[in-house]
Amino acid sequence: MIVTIDGPAGAGKSTVAKMLAGRLGFEFLDTGAMYRTVALELLRLGGIGQAAGLDQWIDGLEMVFEPGRAWLRGEEVTREIRSSGVTALVSTVAEHGQVRRRLVGIQKAYGKGRSLVTEGRDQGTAVFPFAFCKFFLIADVNERALRRFRELEMQGVAVNLDELAHQITERDRRDATREIGPMVAAQDAILIDSTGHSIVQVVDTLENHVNLRRAHVHD
Ligand code: C5P
Repeated sequence: MIVTIDGPAGAGKSTVAKMLAGRLGFEFLDTGAMYRTVALELLRLGGIGQAAGLDQWIDGLEMVFEPGRAWLRGEEVTREIRSSGVTALVSTVAEHGQVRRRLVGIQKAYGKGRSLVTEGRDQGTAVFPFAFCKFFLIADVNERALRRFRELEMQGVAVNLDELAHQITERDRRDATREIGPMVAAQDAILIDSTGHSIVQVVDTLENHVNLRRAHVHD
């Protein structure tokens, strides 16, 4: 059984998906980590300009993903893929059809025969169109920027709140307007606005929807 959570940057998808998976006894998949891992490799190579020959290159790139962890060519990069350099580049990398094709392939294979809560931008549309339950999680951009600001503050990283809001808006614009696998709510997705709600309240809401649907199916 597959549950998908899509939505814009910083809406709390990862935390919510992880907690929901724990409650349901499902596995959790963070697909953003996959795009970030490819972006990290391109950043190390000197940027997206290295994309010449990207089609073959991406197929040969060795990556391993486990819930909450990522490896690139045998090196664990779980923390590094969260860097601001990777965040700035990732949505440009995610526009490439070949990158999406490879990562969507990994995601579909991972979902086979598994009970999964998966989060990203295209999980309920391109990757798992027949998912059991689909959510599209949104939140006011100022609140999303503030949440990210506090996270970074706790890590001792100084950032400007307006600049963060601008970066988030720009990433959302790129993600929503790309040709392949754009960020869009599936027609049958349940729209959840987390503005002003705690993580636990949001997870409660999602869990109720999943359980209602399960009860309905078993009637
Ligand atoms: O969710 P996260 O912020 O880690 O995602 C990083 C980026 O990866 C997104 O901004 C988007 O460009 C890309 N992404 C994607 N499709 C997904 C998940 C993430 O294009 N399913």
